[in-house]
Amino acid sequence: MSNTECDVAVVGCGPTGATLANLLALSGVQVAVFERSEALYPLPRAVHFDDECMRLFQTLGISDALSERVRVNPGMRFVDDAGTLLLDWPRPQQPGPQGWHASYRLHQPDLEQLLRQTLDTAPYATLHSGQAVTAIEQTPDRVSLDVTDTRTGRASRRVARYAVGCDGAHSTVREAMGAGYHDLGFAERWLVVDLLLKRERPDLGDHTLQYCNPDYPATYCRNPGKRRRWEFRLDRDEGDADATAPAALWTRLSRWVSTRDADIERAAVYTFRSALATQWQTSRLLLAGDAAHLTPPFMGQGMCAGLRDAANLAWKLAHCVADDAAQPLLATYEAERAPHARAYIDTAMRLGGLINAADQDGALELAESGSRTLASLSRRLGGVPENTHPTVGQLMPQPILADGRRLDDAVGYAPALLTREAVPGAHAHNDIAVFDGDTHPDIGGALDTLGVHAVRVRPDRYASEVACDAETVKQWLR
Ligand SMILES: Cc1cc2nc3c(=O)[nH]c(=O)nc-3n(C[C@H](O)[C@H](O)[C@H](O)COP(=O)(O)OP(=O)(O)OC[C@H]3O[C@@H](n4cnc5c(N)ncnc54)[C@H](O)[C@@H]3O)c2cc1C
Repeated sequence: MSNTECDVAVVGCGPTGATLANLLALSGVQVAVFERSEALYPLPRAVHFDDECMRLFQTLGISDALSERVRVNPGMRFVDDAGTLLLDWPRPQQPGPQGWHASYRLHQPDLEQLLRQTLDTAPYATLHSGQAVTAIEQTPDRVSLDVTDTRTGRASRRVARYAVGCDGAHSTVREAMGAGYHDLGFAERWLVVDLLLKRERPDLGDHTLQYCNPDYPATYCRNPGKRRRWEFRLDRDEGDADATAPAALWTRLSRWVSTRDADIERAAVYTFRSALATQWQTSRLLLAGDAAHLTPPFMGQGMCAGLRDAANLAWKLAHCVADDAAQPLLATYEAERAPHARAYIDTAMRLGGLINAADQDGALELAESGSRTLASLSRRLGGVPENTHPTVGQLMPQPILADGRRLDDAVGYAPALLTREAVPGAHAHNDIAVFDGDTHPDIGGALDTLGVHAVRVRPDRYASEVACDAETVKQWLR
């Protein structure tokens, strides 16, 4: 057995692990990623992500390449069997305060490929494909991982200062931590079918459609290019093999498409679940992504939650790697992220209830002021004390700088201080980038909207502190 050291071992290179590893590498942390598979995940999964995630991809330098492969989503409509609109969730067609559109449609392998390409060229990161982590132990200052090469069966031991389980729902790291899942009560089998259109079918529409029918709920997704997806809830007694047989698939799809219109690319049966890990950290072991939480996909937010975990955790781990005394900071990770992820899971479960029950009362309850229009969730981080200014713990907007760049392109994955007025000598501060509203009017506008004089923004773009006057800013910089 060989011993290899790194700062952080990331177990799993799905979207969460690849994003976390890229952010750690950007922070100068030596990171080793162990991924059991050699190929990208072949079955249908995420088709949606939001503006906060696109902002994260911007930080990783892949937003331009990704923009060419995704589609701006006009929104989601919940209809009953007769086509009557129960609930509308329109998504803006112009970029919003995050500097990006609110909602995109994607093909998950396109994203994973870009994330892995970035990882391949990152100076501080190494991806070990075909390497399964089989056991993990920790001492007060180290984590040891037993790794098996899936081709040769050769075993090795790797040593890291921290390890993060981004290894999905059946997480080995979660098991090694002695943690489990809190079941939040949703469990339904759904059939997911991805198709490639052979001819134009504009009549299918560009909105996501949720067919709310207690006997036969279904979903239609207008994905990028020729890709289209349908999802169907299965009866308890319907077997996976029967449901995914080509003849059975075409029978289900016949209401919308036939073999003249499209080819079936892939089909799979999933049990959609809702769950939160019982704990997200024990000392030097942490969990992120599906290893920490599961949501039914009705809001398209499962992967997005994992990406938020990565953005929240990477800068905290970088602090701990630089200075072990920073370890208490890691306790804020679960405290901030678990309630945030839970809010999305709860809403997705309620949407699931609506789809299953054609529940018009539920639609009105979900809608804002009974208007039958759903507003996007914007949730404060957990763990923020009640009496704190309402901006603290909120995702901050991304203003455009005077030179036309988006703010994050100038900041990188680092903290920033946004202040209404220019502060003499502010540029001498090496530990925080300072941007003022005198030089960048869009920053002044953003601070006016928030009703604050200045805000300290963390690397994950959430507000950590606000100032209501110039004197406080001077004190911060002192
Ligand atoms: C039908 C469907 C539709 C969805 N739609 C959306 C959507 O529109 N939007 C959205 O945001 N989310 C969606 N999701 C959820 C999303 O796909 C997942 O949340 C996301 O893939 C989780 O990413 P992850 O990196 O945390 O875990 P995974 O993608 O599961 O990756 C885990 C990785 O760890 C590896 N691994 C596991 N064990 C080990 C081990 N012991 N050693 C080494 N490697 C290991 C695995 O091979 C895998 O590559 C959907 C899910 C489904 C099923």
